[in-house]
Amino acid sequence: LEAFPYSNILVLGLAKSGTAAAKVLLKNNKYVRINDGKAIQSNDQIEELKEMGAEVIIGSHPFSVLDDIQIVVKNPGIPYDNPIVAEAEKRNIPVITEIEIAGLLTKGPIIGITGSNGKTTTTTLITEMLKCSQKPVKVAGNIGKVATDIAQTTDEDETMVIELSSFQLQGIKNFKPNIAVLLNIYEAHLDYHKTFENYKAAKFNIFKSQTKNDYLVYNADDPTIIEAIHNADSIKIPFSRKKQLREGVWIDEQYVYFKNERVMSRKDIVLVGEHNLENILAAIAAAKLNGATNSGIYQVLTTFQGVKHRLQFVDTINNRTFYNDSKATNILATQKALGAFKNSIILLAGGLDRGNEFHDLLPFLKKVKGMVVFGQTADKLAGIAKEAQIPIVVKTENVQMAVKEAYEISAPADTILLSPACASWDQYKTFEERGDMFIQAVHTLR
Ligand code: ADP
Repeated sequence: LEAFPYSNILVLGLAKSGTAAAKVLLKNNKYVRINDGKAIQSNDQIEELKEMGAEVIIGSHPFSVLDDIQIVVKNPGIPYDNPIVAEAEKRNIPVITEIEIAGLLTKGPIIGITGSNGKTTTTTLITEMLKCSQKPVKVAGNIGKVATDIAQTTDEDETMVIELSSFQLQGIKNFKPNIAVLLNIYEAHLDYHKTFENYKAAKFNIFKSQTKNDYLVYNADDPTIIEAIHNADSIKIPFSRKKQLREGVWIDEQYVYFKNERVMSRKDIVLVGEHNLENILAAIAAAKLNGATNSGIYQVLTTFQGVKHRLQFVDTINNRTFYNDSKATNILATQKALGAFKNSIILLAGGLDRGNEFHDLLPFLKKVKGMVVFGQTADKLAGIAKEAQIPIVVKTENVQMAVKEAYEISAPADTILLSPACASWDQYKTFEERGDMFIQAVHTLR
């Protein structure tokens, strides 16, 4: 950690990333103070950190934790209007996230992926493409293990693929991926970032320290992104599903291309959804730039059926095809899912009522011939279904029952899709639990 010129560090937030950062700093003989506002019971983890030499202050955030501190390593989840973070900024103490430290520890190349949607899918695709090309690779960030932990174990020829959120990216100073991927930008997380401008600035940090030897893979169909990347020094590699871009990754009716080279046949791609095509094009660009082979890419794209709970293919039973899109916890995600299918759909939707209406779904319901609704929003969604003149609407108790009902009203060649447009917390602990219930219920139909 020679490139980290700070000796007194405050680690704010004692979650996984904070613990990893604290440990590595302690190992490098830094003075580390750890502060967490929650009154956590002393546990093995805390005892271990103390034994390693950390000063641990839990239960409150007195401003004095900042005294003599040169830099703060903040958990990405803690917002900047947290009093202690605001005070640090007032005292001109830099505030970073653990990603900055991970970047200093990694020996090999870094591929960093960000965007409002599609991060996990793209990160997974890139990792698999490299693996199938026999390239050494490790995955980190939200999807895998804490980046600081992974970074320490990488070799010089080993690529670290990191999924990066806007929260993490707001706290970087000099961190840069050798290959950055910018998928798309929608207004999101404004509770944290306050304004769309701040949110965009955080996302665009991904390329701010890149130099002329680094690559920036970007979505050339996204006007916000095109506008932002003008001042990047990086080698720009666009991808598009609308334009023929000879300098990047593009697609026509028959093939997917990297520059002028045919990578594979479009019809051989298994993953459904136009939005996933964007993730695929971005992944091909990043993987190829990092040395993936066309046969490695082919192997992944002819078998990969989606990350779990994200428009994931589940099974085909009596010629009905089941998809689990439990991660679709808002209307936008369900719109994307509905756009992914050409045949008739039976839609399973409902969940936590956040007080919103569902009229924005109406234009997307044309192929929906049956709708099974459940959860707090069941009645609202049934109302929308009537407005859309969907012939069959069934109200039911939960996801398991919904699967049975959907199967009963379905006909051969139908797609039965769980894409709830709502969070799961009215009935399930997580969207994962809801998706698992769906999968189980589908398998019992066999
Ligand atoms: P993230 O990690 O950014 O949350 P995921 O890959 O987990 O993204 O996908 C989450 C949901 O976002 C998917 O279920 C899908 O509805 C939607 N989505 C995925 N990729 C895209 C994309 N490229 N553009 C728009 N929406 C997308």
